[in-house]
Amino acid sequence: MSESMIESLRGKYELEPAYLDKVAAMAEHHPEDRELILGAFDFAYKAHDGQRRKSGEPYIIHPISVASLIDEWGFDSESVMAGLLHDTIEDTEVSFQEVESRFGHSVAELVDGVTKLGHVVYQSREEEQMEDLRKMFIAMAKDIRVIIIKLADCTHNIRTIQFKTIESQRKKALEIMEIYAPIAHRLGMQSVKWELEDRSLKVLDPIGYAEIENYIKDRTDTFNKFLDRTKDTIAAALKEHNIEGQIKARLKQIYSIYRKLYGQNLQFSEIYDICATRVIVKDLAGCYSVLGIIHDLYKPIPGRFKDYISAVPLPSEAAGEGEN
Ligand code: MN
Repeated sequence: MSESMIESLRGKYELEPAYLDKVAAMAEHHPEDRELILGAFDFAYKAHDGQRRKSGEPYIIHPISVASLIDEWGFDSESVMAGLLHDTIEDTEVSFQEVESRFGHSVAELVDGVTKLGHVVYQSREEEQMEDLRKMFIAMAKDIRVIIIKLADCTHNIRTIQFKTIESQRKKALEIMEIYAPIAHRLGMQSVKWELEDRSLKVLDPIGYAEIENYIKDRTDTFNKFLDRTKDTIAAALKEHNIEGQIKARLKQIYSIYRKLYGQNLQFSEIYDICATRVIVKDLAGCYSVLGIIHDLYKPIPGRFKDYISAVPLPSEAAGEGEN
């Protein structure tokens, strides 16, 4: 990252260095639109001047964090700019026309789209109606980037939700759980979905959440050693068979353990996939070769093996991610 850009930002804006570093980073990731991104930041900084978050921090840290997530997720510079500007039309004197004349029609449309989504009155309902609501959100967005910006907005809001009243925390968490996490899933943004679900759960059932968190915390070392060992064993076997594959090992997210404990009424000891390993190979034949190798190493439990290679679950069935 260029030192000179950071220096000049620090001279110009009164803001914690960590946030200015984020601004510099997103500008540098899009060299062709560097000035526009810095311009969008400057514009938003001035528009939100004097406004504060519930935490007491300057409001601008929110749009910076949102834009920075959008950038981390690999989206284009228009989305990053719209992330910086996403609350200007709603919460400041700035008009659609101003944003449009400064940053172009599509950026203005993105900001406008995010603002409109925020106006939909959300109320928890039956699952069937909830599905209609999710579809409506997606359709309303027109440009899918509007949804991406909204997901980043939700992510930063839920990360910093502790400053709100309990009532508004619960309302927001429920909306994220029922609308936005499933949309993230649909878009294939698994880790976004996991974070949204886990953080919402922590708000909605803090005791249930803590129970699982503590269970895992007490066993972190054991679990990690087990995952490392399994990874090494599989890596050695793949090498022996000349198969190239990427091996990933992880602990199950808290919310999916929660669903098993409370949704399926299981005990911790009955959940077999708290530790999970994944092997990613180039093609279908590779999948079956790896499956054979794994079954040689570890005996499948009769009746519990599911062939998700031949039976790809539909998106609606994949909520459990094809694991059991
Ligand atoms: Mn926002």
